Amino acid sequence: MQTANIFSFHGGIHPPENKAQSLQLPLGRPSLPSELILPLGQHIGQSSRPLVKVGDKVLKGETIAINNGFLSSFLHAPTSGTIAAIEERLIAHPSGLSDLCIILTPDGNETWTTLEPLNNWQNICKTDVLAYLSEMGIIGMGGAGFPTQVKLQGAHKNPLTHFIINAAECEPYITADDMLIREKTLELVLGIEMLQHLVEADNVIIGIEDNKPTAIAALKTVLTQRNSKIQIAVVPTKYPSGGEKQLIQLLTGKEVPSGQYPADIGVLCQNVGTCVAVHDAITQGKPLISRFTTLTGDALKSPQNVEVLLGTPVEHLLEYADSEPKKLSRLIMGGPMMGYTLDSAAVPIVKTSNCILAASKKELPPPAPEQACIRCGMCEQACPASLLPQQLLWFSKSQEFEKAEHHNLFDCIECGACSYVCPSSIPLVQYYRHTKSSIREAREANVKSDLAKQRFEARKARQEAEAAEKEAKRLARQKAAPSKATETKKAAPAKAAPTATPTTNDESKKLKVDVAIAKSKLKKLQKQLLEAQENEHVEEINSLQLQVTDQEKALASLEDQLSKLPTDAPISVADTAAKANAAPANDELKKAKVDVALIGVKLKKLHKQLTETPDDEELKDKIATFEADLKAAQETVSKLGATAASNANTATPEPKAAASDELKKRKIDAAIAKAAVKKVEKALKKAEEINAPEIEAIRQQLQEAQQRADDLEKALANPETVMQKAESTSAKAEPATNLDADAIKKRKIDLAIAKAGVKKAEKNILLLKEQGKDEAEINASEWPSKLKEAQDKLAALEKEQAAETTTPPVTTEASAPGANIDADAAKKRKIDLAIAKAGIKKAEKNIQLLKDQGKDESEIEASEWPKKLIEAQQKLAALEAEETTPATSVSTPVEKTVDAVADSEAKAEPEMDLANQIKKEKIAIALAKAQINKLNKRLESSPEEADSINQEIASTEQRLQSAEILLEKLIHSQTNMQENR
Ligand code: SF4
Ligand code: SF4
Repeated sequence: MQTANIFSFHGGIHPPENKAQSLQLPLGRPSLPSELILPLGQHIGQSSRPLVKVGDKVLKGETIAINNGFLSSFLHAPTSGTIAAIEERLIAHPSGLSDLCIILTPDGNETWTTLEPLNNWQNICKTDVLAYLSEMGIIGMGGAGFPTQVKLQGAHKNPLTHFIINAAECEPYITADDMLIREKTLELVLGIEMLQHLVEADNVIIGIEDNKPTAIAALKTVLTQRNSKIQIAVVPTKYPSGGEKQLIQLLTGKEVPSGQYPADIGVLCQNVGTCVAVHDAITQGKPLISRFTTLTGDALKSPQNVEVLLGTPVEHLLEYADSEPKKLSRLIMGGPMMGYTLDSAAVPIVKTSNCILAASKKELPPPAPEQACIRCGMCEQACPASLLPQQLLWFSKSQEFEKAEHHNLFDCIECGACSYVCPSSIPLVQYYRHTKSSIREAREANVKSDLAKQRFEARKARQEAEAAEKEAKRLARQKAAPSKATETKKAAPAKAAPTATPTTNDESKKLKVDVAIAKSKLKKLQKQLLEAQENEHVEEINSLQLQVTDQEKALASLEDQLSKLPTDAPISVADTAAKANAAPANDELKKAKVDVALIGVKLKKLHKQLTETPDDEELKDKIATFEADLKAAQETVSKLGATAASNANTATPEPKAAASDELKKRKIDAAIAKAAVKKVEKALKKAEEINAPEIEAIRQQLQEAQQRADDLEKALANPETVMQKAESTSAKAEPATNLDADAIKKRKIDLAIAKAGVKKAEKNILLLKEQGKDEAEINASEWPSKLKEAQDKLAALEKEQAAETTTPPVTTEASAPGANIDADAAKKRKIDLAIAKAGIKKAEKNIQLLKDQGKDESEIEASEWPKKLIEAQQKLAALEAEETTPATSVSTPVEKTVDAVADSEAKAEPEMDLANQIKKEKIAIALAKAQINKLNKRLESSPEEADSINQEIASTEQRLQSAEILLEKLIHSQTNMQENR
């Protein structure tokens, strides 16, 4: 056994010890009371959750409540009996308020539950031992009620230099620890050794005041017998040497900095009671169900220390110690310096109750009337925390909380030394307690409002993430479609010459699985975090936030690895072109063009936003991403365009289609000719009846009509000849048509690029003007020249286009009337485009107007303009997509047969329904969003209604999600329908 060095701390006082009274009698064990009152909040964190219900029979040591959060604790039945009630009862707390308690009626049998000690604790994983201690309900028994396993977990925040066992027990009257050391010396030393093993501490010191000679002797004996390296430090009696920070300074010479914890300077402290509880739990499997408590004071005939079951009412103990009600002036839980007055003796003993002081009037006279501070400075000299108590008093009285905090009010350990020495009898500690609780209340209110804000932000982020994910999936689906089509066609060559190594594929598969697992873990953690935020489990939020960040990092790293893996080698278009089917390729081309148009519209919108918020970095990133997407989509379009052109050159179905069309046309001609014959026959009949002079001319007409009908009939009698003729004509005309389509396509792309260039340059010039740049500065920038270039290019292209539209197209037998219809359609499309653009401008203008009028987001959402804007943008996107799509109508036969008209009418009807449904869903989405915005605002202003508002938000979000999914499907169907048409 070694003796440790002793240092000193600032301040301190020497009040009368009054410890001898309670040490006259041996340790007492009171009888069972008629009921045990077990508060669910005996520790620092959230109240425990009851596991029992009224009427349940429980055994001694059985778990009756479990922890409810990081700083919460387990609770066990102190004896066997029946759960009589779970209700609010007065508890031992300075507030004098009630709390939820489990009421246990003892059956008197003291029947233990099956105890499961940790016999091989040295060989068990330390984390499991800590979890076991948590389940045994062990908390710090020195006063704060901090769960022991949490304190032990945090011991390695910094390298542990000192493990201190607090046996100082400096407060007057209290001798519970003294008695515990005397009675359970070996258990204490064994408990210390167990904790020493758990925290891997080399330097263990027991700090004990020199007014406990019997306990010191007992300790020395056991330590010597065990040849222990644990040191004992006997410190001089001075109040408050048992304060954690003061004892650390006494034994190590180190000062715990303001606002920090002992673990921050590599020190861990445990109370002797906690060490014995750890020993009993590990070696006997006994949970924390009793404790040593001092019963003392002049109002008790038999002051003594007792080992008392938790939940025993104080009145039962007063009776046990022969209290004299007439003498009883003040009943205090704890000591005279740091304890608090009990309003009722019905309150129970809890895990942190170390003393009941039943004081007489003479012993603790009522405090003298408070007088004005005379600035004597005695309080400052006595303060062990080196504070300025008179300054703190001033700030407390004037409610200058910030200044009080700035003067380290929270370093005050409420020892009462300042009040004790104050010649003006100022109850300084009462002032500090009140100020501290006011600050805490304000902090809690802030935390609550922060949490509400965080919940709101988290929900918003989640919604945005979901929307982005949905959008990404949609784009991925569209992008994947062409590759799928080509993959299928490339399957044969791929088999013949496999290029991707199996290892890469395996790795890729494994990484994909890992990514999926990481995503699922992240989602789970985010959900837990959200729950913790909603339930305001402040202590869990930080730890979950850290876990979420870690998981996000892990996921990002996996995704990074996956992206670095080589992808399958692209299969050349040339290889597959010959085998490709022209129709699916055209479909993909159309889809890709719709993508280009949609991304273009989004980009336009983002650029517009950027002019309003030019410093928005996030927006700039978004624009960069969309620009990259646009480039990729444009590349896809040109690749697919090339494939389609190649297919068209090699494939044969087109002439066949033309031949079939020619046959159809001949049939119609024959039918018309027959009808003409009939008409002329009728006319001839009438002319003959009235003997008209035109009879001969009509007979001539009839002859000609009959001849034409016969010729057509004859031709139709041999359809193969018609088909062959038509095929050869069509095959001759086809290359010219394809070449035109490519040229038109290229010019349209060039036009779009030139227009975008003009717009970009114009926007940037506008931006410079808004930034206050003058003409010279603007001219010195790159944008005027870029604008000029783009404008020239655009003008040249438009001229080229105009010249071409006035040039008669290459005509074939069927293409001349088709060209007229194309010109009409193009004109109509241009008008539609102009209307759509005007619609966008109008809607944007009106939204801006609403913003200028000071309308908020939800009011704007609720107006008609956002809906109109979306509609106009979609219309424009569809029209632009149509414009860039090769005009299949160029080669379509112009004759609209009765069948075709009927077909088009049949298609128009469902399309109208679809459009109406889309409109309906968009309105539903806008309404749901407006509703969510409103609810979120209500949530911020009325946090007390949080539960019901959150429920409403959840159900509205569900509605919104369903509407969004439905809308997506509807738009998809509409796109398909338009494409098929
Ligand atoms: S001890 Fe009392 S009177 Fe003296 S300075 Fe402090 S508060 Fe004022
Ligand atoms: S109660 Fe606070 S201010 Fe007063 S002496 Fe103790 S630590 Fe200092």
